[in-house]
Amino acid sequence: MRLKDKVAIITGAASGIGKKIAETFAAEGARVVIADLNQDQADATAKEIIAQNGQAMGVKMDVTNESEVDKGVEQVIKTFGDIDVLVSNAGIQIIDPVDKLSFANWKKLLSIHLDGAFLTTRACIRSMYASGRGGSIIYMGSVHSKEASPLKAPYVTAKHGLIGLAKVVAKEGASRNVRANVICPGFVRTPLVDKQIPEQAKELGISEDDVIKKVMLKETVDGEFTTTADVANVALFFASFDSNALTGQSLVVSHGWFMQ
Ligand code: NAD
Repeated sequence: MRLKDKVAIITGAASGIGKKIAETFAAEGARVVIADLNQDQADATAKEIIAQNGQAMGVKMDVTNESEVDKGVEQVIKTFGDIDVLVSNAGIQIIDPVDKLSFANWKKLLSIHLDGAFLTTRACIRSMYASGRGGSIIYMGSVHSKEASPLKAPYVTAKHGLIGLAKVVAKEGASRNVRANVICPGFVRTPLVDKQIPEQAKELGISEDDVIKKVMLKETVDGEFTTTADVANVALFFASFDSNALTGQSLVVSHGWFMQ
């Protein structure tokens, strides 16, 4: 078991990539926290993991809400003990060209991805410092942390920003054994992607099939989607890597869409 008795908070873990990471970490012995907007959905995911003999709890947490993040992390420490791993994963997508994008939507997306990453990092790193054990902080970036696509200005901006935050946290945290890294997935079939297929088709004036083949998977080496399991395996690698040799890095998992 690669994460035996480690306490891992995963934000946005009631769905998609976050849920698979929670299941993967639990199977490796971690006590996982499903932190998501809706208490019932967070609890339902935790219940599924417990039914598979995992250890899990649901926490209602809007990652943009300072007091909810701080209280949620306190609740976790009381129930499970100090935090060892944070996966800052909660996110949304908004499809709009810059000239049509509302300021409200710009701020909403940046807040969930960037304020959320900051607030959860701050709350968890305090616990990692206080315990003296250090820990691993993992940000869910994207190929859009490295590349741009039309119609995604706030998303591309936020995902690039997470790499900056990870580098700072890596430098500040090193002396206390806290690492920070970024996972950069290509397209993964989750509700976030299913929602944008018809939206992109409409904006670009092409079919949904063409959005998949000619936009989303066009640059991959094999025309394949990345899977939630692919991303969860990278998260497990970062979470269980136990020295500062691997910190401040970003790893692309995208079927070769982006090559460094
Ligand atoms: P998803 O829609 O399946 O899951 C996102 C989760 O985040 C949901 O459970 C939602 O309730 C939660 N969430 C949204 N706003 C929140 C908030 N303010 N506070 C707490 N929770 C909140 O999406 P997904 O595809 O699994 O995306 C997860 C992460 O992976 C995102 O950061 C996304 O940008 C990133 N990502 C996704 C893809 C992809 O192709 N699906 C590719 C690269 C990166």
